[in-house]
Amino acid sequence: MEISLRNQVAIVTGASSGIGSGIAKSLASAGAVVIINHSSERSLVEAQAVLKEITDAGGSGMTYQCDVSSEDEVVKMFRDVISAYQTVDILVNNAGIQKDAEFTKMTLDQWNAVIGVNLTGQFLCAREAIKEFLRRGIDPSRSIACGKIIHISSVHEIIPWAGHANYASSKGAVRMLMQTLAQEYGANKIRVNSICPGAIQTPINKGAWSTPEALDSLLKLIPYNRIGQPEDIGNMAAFLASDLADYISGTSIFIDGGMTTFESFSTGG
Ligand code: NAP
Repeated sequence: MEISLRNQVAIVTGASSGIGSGIAKSLASAGAVVIINHSSERSLVEAQAVLKEITDAGGSGMTYQCDVSSEDEVVKMFRDVISAYQTVDILVNNAGIQKDAEFTKMTLDQWNAVIGVNLTGQFLCAREAIKEFLRRGIDPSRSIACGKIIHISSVHEIIPWAGHANYASSKGAVRMLMQTLAQEYGANKIRVNSICPGAIQTPINKGAWSTPEALDSLLKLIPYNRIGQPEDIGNMAAFLASDLADYISGTSIFIDGGMTTFESFSTGG
């Protein structure tokens, strides 16, 4: 059994770092042409390094700077990618940020910034992707589905998170966005799913793993007793995007080393 994404074009948002870079490499190794999206000039070097790893391994793609919370920039990104590669087959809505604060001290800017990237960004990219999937229709030389969207959500789409109301709210909403799109476009053969990572070792949560004490306390939440790596998520993204997953739509897949079994109840609660 082989996971193949040959002849397919994938946009991965926020692919200059962490989970997005792992997903971009996994999709490329399964044969997809990968667009490595990043938001700022500052992260161009990282995005180029991800592209170099992909091309060194025989894959192909391009970097693309676009702030996913900007409607104009997202529309332009899809237009440019379609003009370069004719179409888009796979969208991985991965870009995400945190702006943490105790709730009574959370500013409207902190709230809006997180909702803007984590939720509105996923809406804007999904809308442009679905327009393109419907325009192209099914092409069996690419995939038996008309298009695939993978939202990167979080265990916090179901686990409340004190001090992170904006982030947890954005991920809870992503679950409904994903399920609604899967329902609305299922008859068009567009598959929409979410991956919900637990603790993955990336810059977004450096404070949770960068000292032995922090890592020790994090591991108490993870029955499988290790922190996750970007390729743990990348492997699942490649499978979900492939025709091997053709009957999977409208679901959230948790990749968390058992975090959502609520480890603190293992000794009786
Ligand atoms: P990360 O290493 O900080 O990477 C975040 C990525 O998002 C970067 O490539 C960043 O690029 C990009 N980005 C941020 N704002 C953007 C914008 N406005 N437009 C386009 N790209 C933007 O974080 P990560 O841990 O890999 O997180 C990736 C996703 O996984 C997020 O949705 C996060 O919520 C989710 N997640 C992570 C964990 C975890 O434990 N790490 C757990 C659950 C869920 P720039 O630097 O160019 O802005």
